[in-house]
Amino acid sequence: MSSEGKGERFKLSRRSFLKASGVTGITVFATSLIKPKNLFKFPQKAKTVDNEGVITEKWINSSCLNCPARCATSIRVVNGKAVRIKGNPFSKVSEGEICPRGHIGLQVLYDPARITSPMKRTNPEKGRESDPHWEKISWEEALNEVSNKLQDIRNSGNPEQTVVFSGLNSRSDEDLIGRFVSAYGTPNLITGDSLEDESERVGRWLADGNYSHIA
Ligand code: SF4
Repeated sequence: MSSEGKGERFKLSRRSFLKASGVTGITVFATSLIKPKNLFKFPQKAKTVDNEGVITEKWINSSCLNCPARCATSIRVVNGKAVRIKGNPFSKVSEGEICPRGHIGLQVLYDPARITSPMKRTNPEKGRESDPHWEKISWEEALNEVSNKLQDIRNSGNPEQTVVFSGLNSRSDEDLIGRFVSAYGTPNLITGDSLEDESERVGRWLADGNYSHIA
């Protein structure tokens, strides 16, 4: 990762300071501290590139979920298809940088083996040697089945019997999942990002009460 330009937006020369404070006062000085220099301008509008037709291009801001750091990203989407991932220069945390793993997010997205719909286990027999016989089902069917089951367990008066497993999510999704299990009435939320990751979170929770990543 290049460190060139790192922290640039927080640098202010003596001359700039005098100029800013002398001409327009302390308000402008404060603004100059937080405004990034040389911002990369993302094209936001559709553009015509040739006579074949209109190519719609846009950049969508997101965050990388290839590790718990969750760096801020911007995704170039052409005709509805993501074609490039780069760091979001507006991020005050990652400052427009992402690691090589962040760039290969497209390979994860277009992996032919990626699971893209809910899967239902159809073999009631469980065990290491038993094929679960996973079958694709629609989102509507999955949501109905899960919500009915959740309702039954809650109505039985034992919501703690529900265990929720969750993978690596965005911070807002994690917050949502945490609130959901809390409202539902079960303390049994287990994240499966990775084992060492869970230890890190629990360690921090025990140390300062924050159940989150140190990063
Ligand atoms: S860009 Fe790299 S460091 Fe940042 S979240 Fe993705 S994998 Fe992690």
